[in-house]
Amino acid sequence: MTDIFLKIINREIPAYIVYEDSDFLAFLDINPVVPGHTLLIPKVCIDYFYDLDNQTLSNMIICSKKISEGIQKTFHCKKVGTAVIGLDVKHAHMHLIPLNAVEDFNFSKHIQLPQHEMMKICNNIKNNINT
Ligand code: 5GP
Repeated sequence: MTDIFLKIINREIPAYIVYEDSDFLAFLDINPVVPGHTLLIPKVCIDYFYDLDNQTLSNMIICSKKISEGIQKTFHCKKVGTAVIGLDVKHAHMHLIPLNAVEDFNFSKHIQLPQHEMMKICNNIKNNINT
């Protein structure tokens, strides 16, 4: 099956990328549950999050902290919520979601934002991540 996130890693399809290092990539979810909904992925192609080796898992959590701080600074939200689902895309990923209310964590409701809005959010998060 096509790994859509590998295509993003390889720049075969576009994405609003907020962070990249040698092991991880973070980009805006194309159908966010709230503005700023970000996905963090390892560059290694593994479907199930808990099949990642322990070192990658640990590094990914530490990386998610850095991205979440950038999201928090951008949106001044109460918390950044984290979820691992993976029922749709078979490439391990974490959802990082700006939260002000429990309703913000609703994966049955997706929105679409205009390109200029996604671009603005992307640049703001990127600029707020301490590398
Ligand atoms: P899950 O697999 O965790 O259930 O959900 C996968 C998430 O990836 C969804 O929130 C969906 O909107 C997002 N997604 C699916 N395809 C793409 C894509 O091509 N680009 C981006 N940026 N997000 C995607």
